[in-house]
Amino acid sequence: MVQVIKKNNQLQDVLIDKRVGFVPTMGALHEGHMSLVEESAKRGLFTVVSIFVNPTQFNNKEDFELYPTHLERDVAMLEKTGCDIIYTPQKDQIYPEDLVMEVYDHEFYPVDSVLEGKHRPGHFKGVAQVVHRLFEIVKPQYAFFGEKDYQQLAIIRLLCKKLSLPIEIIGMPTIREKNGLAMSSRNERLSEAQKEKATLLYKSLCYAAESFATKQPQEIKDSIEKHFSSDDEWELEYFEMVNPDTFETIDSNATKHARALVAATLGKVRLIDNMKVTSHEV
Ligand code: AMP
Repeated sequence: MVQVIKKNNQLQDVLIDKRVGFVPTMGALHEGHMSLVEESAKRGLFTVVSIFVNPTQFNNKEDFELYPTHLERDVAMLEKTGCDIIYTPQKDQIYPEDLVMEVYDHEFYPVDSVLEGKHRPGHFKGVAQVVHRLFEIVKPQYAFFGEKDYQQLAIIRLLCKKLSLPIEIIGMPTIREKNGLAMSSRNERLSEAQKEKATLLYKSLCYAAESFATKQPQEIKDSIEKHFSSDDEWELEYFEMVNPDTFETIDSNATKHARALVAATLGKVRLIDNMKVTSHEV
């Protein structure tokens, strides 16, 4: 049976001499999270899943307050996977009063200054802070993250490089609903009709991927922006095609590597998604 641990010292005792695969989450788990847990277990790692809704990465108070939590349901889901330990710290374990932490202000330029970094000021600062802290506590050999949060994955790789952490970061593909909607804890806040409407994110990314061989990025972008603006319930924050390493906007489809990323609010729910967009298969 999977063990639920709240305290750092208790967790660290259990992890002595283990080869640890770590999956940090904010709970309200779904199949996307499970795919990360299963990958860790498949690799024969002692698998730790953390559930902590990190206040420092929310730039919007309402978004933090409305973030779904279902610990019992999460534990029941994790019982059915290869998870060994569920780590559910309270805030004092992650941010004790005497903690002195590095401040990740524009530390990962230019990656942290565009897209999510630009539209959610302070978000990546909070992400880097909590992941650094969780890595310090769990000390995993491997950590699993979803490509669903593509820019976050890049920031975490940069964080490990900066701190020379001996942790292998594994990026895993986005798990989607049958209709293409990327699974997300925030989808719980959408009505059934909105869940259907939200496929516009996926459809836009597919359109970008399909058109990239014949259309220039600006033309693709204009067409997608038009779609979003034709419906009042949508507010598009950005749709960009970028270099997947530097996150700089690309202005020509002659490039070999590109990623399209989109963020939009449907009603009151902010959604993000992304997809590989390349004209040449590599
Ligand atoms: P969160 O609980 O939203 O912080 O997500 C925890 C981890 O699960 C992050 O590494 C996310 O990128 C990953 N994740 C979230 N949604 C998905 C998905 N649909 N497919 C794959 N991974 C995901």
